[in-house]
Amino acid sequence: MSKREVLIIGAGPAGLTAALELVRAGFKPIVIDADSQVGGISKTINFEGNRMDLGGHRFFSKSDWVMDWWQQILPVETEESTKQTANLAYQGQQRPFMPNRYAQSSDGDRVMLIRSRLSRIYYLRRFFDYPVKLNANTIRNLGLSRMAKIGVSYAAARMAPIKFEQTLEDFLINRFGRELFQTFFKDYTEKVWGVPCSDISAEWGAQRIKGLSITKALLHAARQVLGSGSAGSKAVETSLIEQFMYPKLGPGQLWEVVAEMVEKGGGQVFLNQRAMRIHRDEFRITGIDALDTISGNVRRINCTNLISTIPVKELMENMQPAAPSALLSIARALPYRDFITVGLLVPRMFPPAGTKVDSAVGMPADNWIYIQEPDVKLGRLQIFNNWSPAMVKDHPKIFLGLEYFCTEGDELWNMPKDCLLSFAANELEKIGLIKASEVESGTVIKVPKAYPAYFGAYDRMPELRTYFSQFSNLFLVGRNGMHRYNNQDHSMVSAKLAVECIVDPAMNRGAIWDVNVEQDYQEEK
Ligand SMILES: Cc1cc2nc3c(=O)[nH]c(=O)nc-3n(C[C@H](O)[C@H](O)[C@H](O)COP(=O)(O)OP(=O)(O)OC[C@H]3O[C@@H](n4cnc5c(N)ncnc54)[C@H](O)[C@@H]3O)c2cc1C
Repeated sequence: MSKREVLIIGAGPAGLTAALELVRAGFKPIVIDADSQVGGISKTINFEGNRMDLGGHRFFSKSDWVMDWWQQILPVETEESTKQTANLAYQGQQRPFMPNRYAQSSDGDRVMLIRSRLSRIYYLRRFFDYPVKLNANTIRNLGLSRMAKIGVSYAAARMAPIKFEQTLEDFLINRFGRELFQTFFKDYTEKVWGVPCSDISAEWGAQRIKGLSITKALLHAARQVLGSGSAGSKAVETSLIEQFMYPKLGPGQLWEVVAEMVEKGGGQVFLNQRAMRIHRDEFRITGIDALDTISGNVRRINCTNLISTIPVKELMENMQPAAPSALLSIARALPYRDFITVGLLVPRMFPPAGTKVDSAVGMPADNWIYIQEPDVKLGRLQIFNNWSPAMVKDHPKIFLGLEYFCTEGDELWNMPKDCLLSFAANELEKIGLIKASEVESGTVIKVPKAYPAYFGAYDRMPELRTYFSQFSNLFLVGRNGMHRYNNQDHSMVSAKLAVECIVDPAMNRGAIWDVNVEQDYQEEK
């Protein structure tokens, strides 16, 4: 087999991990990406010297291989005095973490930072802890009568649970009670997925919210009070992570360095190249046609193996000759949720009275804030300064990312950039956090297919998987590549396994689909 002819579509975390692992195994892969920069959804956008992270990417993994891999690319910057104690902690528990590479002073910006997480819920124009805790702040914010209602409805749900949990709404009410469901889950979940909780299957809740319960929350609170976390356990809900690694210049920085390493090792990364037709000879991929999105030229790239990180829907639609029509219809019906981030540069913020702020400009210390307020469409607010101070050009200015969940083609998605900028600024003023007239500049980034969704045709994915598994030289990896809610680390591990199968065809290809089957470990709960 020619070591040149492994082709990878997509220069996001999955594609670039595959590329670097192939280079390390002596191959010289070709990577193409339709975008003008690498990193996929994990890229960093540079706006007038300020940096945006689309979603806010924590670098944390239960996999030692991933943690080590990241640090090989960007070593961790730690004070000499804290070298021995640096660790990633979750509330009450810790992951034994010993940075294995430390930044050399000459590397300046090419480092990982260890950052503390703070993310709260903004509701009733007040901040609530996230995950919601039973503490004085929550009781004060909600008021005694609402608290009493929550308690009564929780007790009612425990005593007389909904017998056949069919929907996510049933699932959540059974675990948290109707009042708590309506207070903290309903509006936000519906903002994210764009469908009522009663239209989402209970199984989805079981996969994603597994392990979080009132009992656990109470036990957790008790452990905090008593100060007795069990050290060393990895079996912990990741929504409880308190510290994570973060590239100094945003997540895309890491992937830019990886792309450089791939090219240094003899691989090639071509940007602005969209995969169009995927040519097959029965169940063997022979090559693709790539469209140069700048010149409009189309060129054929032959390959011995193809690693695809592009949406399953797109892969299926581009097969030449066409895939069986029944399967094509399933692929076309796979649902996605799309995402818009509006970046706004502001001189100050106006958090509710009494909020502890980080600076004279009223900036809360949160990395991100869940916006639970039902009177705005805004879903989440990122404060990029708090991910890494180097994300912002002129301090003490504040660079915010206002995140909207939407569907390609809907009203929000189609809104022109200027309208979106003022719409977003006005929403943030409406809930009291900024003055729209003070916004200095802003930008809008649209991210199609940010979330492969688990409803609609999703339950027919096994049929597509069976079809693709008949191709001996095609590997589906990554997030949209597998239509799975994969984080960076899952995407990377799936890519690593694909490379192992290419290097040694006797390896079990099915193992790729075993990555992240637990689903208990997502960026968002
Ligand atoms: C809001 C949000 C928050 C997140 N937070 C975290 C987090 O905290 N931690 C974490 O680890 N992960 C997080 N993730 C997940 C992370 O972004 C993904 O797991 C990761 O980017 C997936 O990598 P990938 O390579 O599979 O896909 P992508 O990043 O989607 O990359 C796929 C690439 O393929 C390219 N492409 C698509 N179609 C074509 C085509 N036809 N031809 C050529 N190129 C094509 C795209 O341009 C893209 O560059 C988050 C995601 C979101 C949406």
